[in-house]
Amino acid sequence: MPAAPHPGAADPRYSKRLAIVVPYRDRAQHLAQFVPHMAAYFERDKLDQQIAVTVNIVEQKGDMPFNRGRLGNCGYLLTRDSSDYVCIHDVDYLPMWADYSWSPNPARLIWHGLSIGEDRFTFFGAVTLLDNTVFAKVNGFPNCYWGWGPEDRELGFRCRTQGFEIERRDGTYIPLKHPHAGFSAPGVWTEEARRTNELYKKRQPGLQALAGEDGVNNLKFKLVEKKPLATSAGTLKNFWHYIVDLGAPDAS
Ligand code: UDP
Ligand code: MN
Repeated sequence: MPAAPHPGAADPRYSKRLAIVVPYRDRAQHLAQFVPHMAAYFERDKLDQQIAVTVNIVEQKGDMPFNRGRLGNCGYLLTRDSSDYVCIHDVDYLPMWADYSWSPNPARLIWHGLSIGEDRFTFFGAVTLLDNTVFAKVNGFPNCYWGWGPEDRELGFRCRTQGFEIERRDGTYIPLKHPHAGFSAPGVWTEEARRTNELYKKRQPGLQALAGEDGVNNLKFKLVEKKPLATSAGTLKNFWHYIVDLGAPDAS
């Protein structure tokens, strides 16, 4: 007799296809921990195990300042035809106790383990999840931040101004340590953080209009390569490695 379907099978929270998108460059040690961890996490016996998931490492080519917003937008565009929702995921947070199920509302998945003092109610970064239609409606991330910056704060703003309520899921993650790109000492911004925060301040008066003008709808990029993700143990099913050319800061 065939096994009875799992009670979650008809539940949209567990029957939609998830694309995890990891903006990435030059963090090989983190990636080497992240990849086997994610494979094991989704194999473990719990509700998340039912989710059809792909893990997509989206690597920025070249040595322009890192642009996490553009990489998130690229990841969405590269996966939207084969998924229903997207999770933008930092490479340096490993889920211990988390919830990757679908929601019609944008959701922040991480709380415990965040390494900096964030506001529990407003923080919308590091590991966030959006239905594909929501990501398109809010026009994704701004493309304009080259270097450590507030692209995640603007994404949260875009969600709220489009009327979405942001879900706070207080997942527990293990943070992987790295030198901080935003602060050179406690409370002292690096040069690139100073630049992106100045731009953020300049954008404030027109932030709502800018959300429509600059985002996933006008992103230009080139897909240089797509390959199964290679690890020391071989390639993993449903893990992909994309290399993308984002252009240079002057181009939009
Ligand atoms: N990232 C990366 N290479 C970089 C900078 C950032 O791969 O040179 C990715 C990585 O996924 C990282 C995320 O962007 O987890 C956020 O950057 P970072 O960890 O520097 O920010 P913070 O820890 O301050 O949130
Ligand atoms: Mn980090």
